Amino acid sequence: MTQDSYYFIEKKDLQGFIDALTLKMSVFAPVRKGRGFRFEKLKNKQKLDLNGYINTEFPPKSILMPEGEALVRYKESMICEVFDDVKKAVFAIRPCDVHAMLLLDKVMMGHGDIEEHYEARRKNLIVIAMNCTEAGENCFCESMETDRLYGGFDLLFTENGNGYHVEAGSEEGKKIIDDSAKLFRKSSGMPAKTKPGCTKKIDTAGLPEIMKKAANSSIWEDTAKRCLSCASCTFVCPTCYCFSLKHEPDVTDLKNGEVKREMDYCMLLRFSKVAGDYVFRQHRTERVKQFFYHKLVYGLENEGKNHCVGCGRCITECMAGIDITEEAAKVRKKYAKV
Ligand code: SF4
Ligand code: SF4
Repeated sequence: MTQDSYYFIEKKDLQGFIDALTLKMSVFAPVRKGRGFRFEKLKNKQKLDLNGYINTEFPPKSILMPEGEALVRYKESMICEVFDDVKKAVFAIRPCDVHAMLLLDKVMMGHGDIEEHYEARRKNLIVIAMNCTEAGENCFCESMETDRLYGGFDLLFTENGNGYHVEAGSEEGKKIIDDSAKLFRKSSGMPAKTKPGCTKKIDTAGLPEIMKKAANSSIWEDTAKRCLSCASCTFVCPTCYCFSLKHEPDVTDLKNGEVKREMDYCMLLRFSKVAGDYVFRQHRTERVKQFFYHKLVYGLENEGKNHCVGCGRCITECMAGIDITEEAAKVRKKYAKV
């Protein structure tokens, strides 16, 4: 970015910036809820409170891929596709989740076939990222090299003393600043990036090859014995994108109805059920293995990037205490020298 891409805003002016943005578009930001924070659409002039915010319990993925959405609606002989092209912004999204979003882009729009419902939302989403100053107890983004951003944002905030340094990463980002110009002053650059300081780590060197050697390992059976098949890990993972399609006709006349997309989860037995009631991942071991191999092997092969961004949410949410960093370490210990 050029010299004119850097700004500074004082903390006391942040609310004014968000209020102005909320008047122009739907703004999703971390809101204190449950055990922590969740991304929610802010109401007009809703007070922003980032005190204690490290990351959200659930990823911001649902802004692009809601849990359930109509793709097609029909009435008599009229059929129409449904697109959500409402202008939105996500504020204070962490670097790991921006990396996850860039991966979703590759999956949904990067293989020649563009998924147009995803594309409509993505094209209308302003990404306002915020660097981390502190790591959560289960974060390992430093190992996955997702703790910093080199792009993929319209604006990037970095907390510093009584305010935030802001880098504009796009013309749209600059325009947002221009629209609230009174609240920002020009700055000569961004402060040197500090690491969030993750205590959890994963050694990724040669890991896919080592994982492949462990394809039939008893490690996965042992892990599957602990796993409860609750699918919480896949539910909270910012890079899990599997879905099912559901036809919901209006049963009163069968002339109206819709086809819906519902997020689905490979940790569930029913996920791999196909016609004829055949389930091709019948055993929990196969489902557990699919999750870890998707995150640490297949993503690299298919998209050139690990499909784990080290957010640590699956570790936090797993009631059985299954930890992807420990699983990878077990595999490395047993198979690295085989
Ligand atoms: S969250 Fe834990 S127990 Fe639940 S499906 Fe995932 S690994 Fe299994
Ligand atoms: S596998 Fe776990 S740590 Fe990795 S991105 Fe998904 S939820 Fe985050």
